Amino acid sequence: MIYHKLIDKLHKETILSPQEYLLLIKNRDKCSEYLFQNATQVREEIYGNVIYIRGLIEFTNYCKNDCLYCGIRRSNILAERYRLTKEEIVSCAEEGYQLGFRTFVLQGGEDQYYSDGILTDIIRGIKTKYPDCAITLSLGERSFESYLALKNAGADRYLLRHETATKSHYEKLHPKEMNFDNRMQCLENLKKIGYQVGAGFMVGSPYQTEENLADELIFLKKLQPHMVGIGPFVPHKDTPFKDQLPGTVDLTLFMLGLIRLTLPNVLLPATTALGTIDPLGREKGIRAGANVLMPNLSPVTVRKKYMLYDNKICTGDEAAQCIDCLKRRVSTTGCEVITDRGDYKEI
Ligand code: SAH
Repeated sequence: MIYHKLIDKLHKETILSPQEYLLLIKNRDKCSEYLFQNATQVREEIYGNVIYIRGLIEFTNYCKNDCLYCGIRRSNILAERYRLTKEEIVSCAEEGYQLGFRTFVLQGGEDQYYSDGILTDIIRGIKTKYPDCAITLSLGERSFESYLALKNAGADRYLLRHETATKSHYEKLHPKEMNFDNRMQCLENLKKIGYQVGAGFMVGSPYQTEENLADELIFLKKLQPHMVGIGPFVPHKDTPFKDQLPGTVDLTLFMLGLIRLTLPNVLLPATTALGTIDPLGREKGIRAGANVLMPNLSPVTVRKKYMLYDNKICTGDEAAQCIDCLKRRVSTTGCEVITDRGDYKEI
C-alpha cells in the first residue's frame, strides 16, 4: 500500500516532503496502526521500554499575555490568580523527589513578578538540594540575557511551544502585540545558550489546516529540538475560542507517530490535554510513540486555578496518588516508569 511505503520511507530516511506528510495525514485512517508500530519500534530501539516522568510545578497563573485559546490569559477576569513562594516550590520538589522524580518543570504564565533574581534563587534552591535532578523551565518569552542568567543558575532545559509554525496562523491565535518572529527568536536563543530545548504546538487549534500540520514536521526537522510537546486544543469556556471544536485524539496520535519517526531521539510527552479528551489518551500516546509523562506536582490547593482549558484532569489528586495511577496505566502499555533524569539521548 502506498501509505505503508511512505511510512517505510519516513522510518528509513526520517524526513518526507510536505506533500508526502500531507498525504499521510489526509489518509491517516488507513495507516495509523502501521505508523504506530513503526514509531514504537523506533522508540524501543533508542529508549527501550522506559517512560520518563517530569514533575510539573505550575507556580503562577498570572500572565501578561492574552492568547486567545488560553484560560489564564490576562483578560480572563474569572481566573483566580495565585503565585507560589520559593518555599512552596521547593517543597513540591521535595515531595516529588521522594516519589522518584528527577526532573522538575517550573511552568507558569508570563508573570513579571518573577524577576531573574527571584527565579535564579528558586533554581539554586532546588539544585543545591537535589544536584542529581534536572530543571526544566516553561516561562514563555524572555530576553537572551534572562535565559542566560537562568541557565547559569542551573536550569537545564526549556520548553517553549511555538504553537504553530505558520506565521499567518499564529496571528489568528494571538493578539496583535504578540509576535511570531520573537517566539522563534526565543527558540534560537535558547538553543544558542545550550539548553535542551522543547518546542511544540496544539493539534486542532482554530483555523489550523492539514497543510499547516505537514509544515509543522518540516519545521521541527529543521529546528532539531530535544523535546516536542503536542496536545489537542481544548476550548476554555471563558476565552474567545470557547465555541471552537477541540482537536481530536486520532489526529494527535497520528502526529505523535510522525514526530517519532521524523525525530527518532526526541523526548515526546503524552500530554495531560490528550488524557483530558480521552480517558486512555496518554496510554494511546505511548503506543503511538511517546516516551514522557508530565504529572502534576503543584499543591492541590492551586491545581484547579491553573486551568488552561476546560475539564483538565488530575486537578484533585495528591501527587502520590497521581504517580501510582500513572504507573498502573503505563504498565498496560508494556512500558515502565523509571527514576531517572531522562536526558535526551544523542544519536
Ligand atoms: N506561558 C508559558 C507556558 C504556557 S502553558 C509559555 O508561554 O510557554 C503551556 C502550553 O499549554 C501552551 O504552550 C499551549 O500550547 C498549551 N495550551 C494553552 N491553552 C490551551 C488550550 N486551550 N488547549 C490546549 N492546550 C493549551
